[in-house]
Amino acid sequence: MPSFVNPEKCDGCKALDSTACQHICPNDLMVLDKETMKAYNREPEMCWECYNCVKICPTQAVDVRGYADFVPMGASVVPMRSTDAIMWTVRFRNGNVKRFKFPIRTTPEGQAEPAGGWPTEPDLDSPVLFTEPDSLGLPAVWTRN
Ligand code: SF4
Ligand code: SF4
Repeated sequence: MPSFVNPEKCDGCKALDSTACQHICPNDLMVLDKETMKAYNREPEMCWECYNCVKICPTQAVDVRGYADFVPMGASVVPMRSTDAIMWTVRFRNGNVKRFKFPIRTTPEGQAEPAGGWPTEPDLDSPVLFTEPDSLGLPAVWTRN
């Protein structure tokens, strides 16, 4: 089941140009209805349930079927982000509620090194990965010319 927006919770990201769910969707599926200022998934059949829009929405307005390995059928799952973890709330069909917290980073917010400490000047003509050969512990990587 694809993601869907609960219009009662969506505030249109307070009318910003690009909403959070639009910004994050890798399939460019989420759009904002400028008249209602509510977002919606414009092509549900193309949604791969990646959860990005679910996790980034600041008002918990996006819902999606929980994966069967952690949410039983008929239950809902809602994430609440903090700077270092996500608190997941699972509400079962019988009304029971369970919560679990999952860490989402290993460095303080704003401190991650985008390239992991490797040089950030990639040679786009090179056939090897930008960390190679150092990350392989080799003096050079054999390539076919
Ligand atoms: S779940 Fe992923 S693919 Fe589906 S609409 Fe949200 S961000 Fe896009
Ligand atoms: S991120 Fe949430 S609040 Fe913002 S437009 Fe999307 S569904 Fe609405």
